[in-house]
Amino acid sequence: MKARFLGGGNEVGRLGMVLSTDRYKFLFDYGMNPTKPPTFPLFAPKVDGVFVTHSHLDHVGMLPWLNKNGGANVYATPPTLSVIPILLYDSVKIAKMEGGSLPFEEFDVDSIIESFTPLNYGETMEFKDQDITSHSTGHLIGSAMYLVNGENKLVFTGDIQSIDTHLLFGIKPIDTDVLVVESTYAGKEHPPRPNVEENFLSSIQKVVEGEGVAVVAAFAVGRAQELLMVLENTDYEIWMDGMARTVCNVLSSFPKYVKNYQRYKKMLRRVRMVRSKSDREKALRGDVIITTGGMLDGGPVLHYISNLNTPRNGLFLTGYQVEDTNGRMLLETGSIDLAGVATKVNMDVKFFDFSAHSGHKEILEFIEGSRPDKVVLMHGEKREELAKDLTSSKVILPKNGEEFEI
Ligand SMILES: [Zn+2]
Ligand SMILES: [Zn+2]
Repeated sequence: MKARFLGGGNEVGRLGMVLSTDRYKFLFDYGMNPTKPPTFPLFAPKVDGVFVTHSHLDHVGMLPWLNKNGGANVYATPPTLSVIPILLYDSVKIAKMEGGSLPFEEFDVDSIIESFTPLNYGETMEFKDQDITSHSTGHLIGSAMYLVNGENKLVFTGDIQSIDTHLLFGIKPIDTDVLVVESTYAGKEHPPRPNVEENFLSSIQKVVEGEGVAVVAAFAVGRAQELLMVLENTDYEIWMDGMARTVCNVLSSFPKYVKNYQRYKKMLRRVRMVRSKSDREKALRGDVIITTGGMLDGGPVLHYISNLNTPRNGLFLTGYQVEDTNGRMLLETGSIDLAGVATKVNMDVKFFDFSAHSGHKEILEFIEGSRPDKVVLMHGEKREELAKDLTSSKVILPKNGEEFEI
């Protein structure tokens, strides 16, 4: 077996890995970086199947391009396949609005969606001398890793989360010969989740007690759903706006994929969804607003910041803020770019580490539990930090574009 990263090898983002066996070529994930301007992986060869781990743009954003290259069957879990079109059509819309260009068009999105083939956890897709099975990874509702079973066993993880969260169980290792695993948090640990939740809730309480509104910026896929559950035992007036709202609703159709499904449904009934301009006005008088975009680069969150930019209101960031985003600029300078104008944010700004990725120690434990002979570290910028802690297996640190033997 040989493999080659089209992107996302020695970097976080725009992931794509081609796996070539004697008879087949498979592609695992095919994403882009939704930066301004966006960046893309290398072009993919014609493949026999695409296995998608989860519905984040850095794992799926480039899928429509495959239609330009003869198309391909795209396999993923039903929740993942339901969310991907929302992300892809949104990227096309953003590219049009900002005058940027994507290497595909809207009709390529339409076409690639036609080739979506659901593969539930535990189900296997058979090719002659290989079969590929899907397993959960704890990162998002519906996120999957793939076990390729042929002469050797290979696992491709996508993004992983080891701890149990409100909606998902943490990832469990599977015995394998070769493990291709993400390393986003190599060299870094997360604070214990119960502490993060406690700080988050007490910060909201402080804002609400001071007659303010807590604006919670959240990623649409994963974070928004989890934060909703963190607020389960409170009696705040909670509003939800933006793509977070759409995705929360779509994901509510997959009871088998959600750990506390009944409780999730109950929270969805309780939260007030912003469906109109007048709802958006009402939300300004509520207690908590969960809204996209999570990095303040667009979406209704900017409307709320413009309207609530005083010290009694809170602006809470709940995920990693990529370089060159408004969110990062806010953390570094205290200002953001609002419609082209640098604006000082006077709200109570806080950052909470609700990451959906395993930290350094957890990745190590996962690798040890999988008992591989070879470990391929991908999707990370500090892979060496993990490599030096891995003494019992051979470690490969591939660069984008380089073919390597497994
Ligand atoms: Zn992800
Ligand atoms: Zn990722």
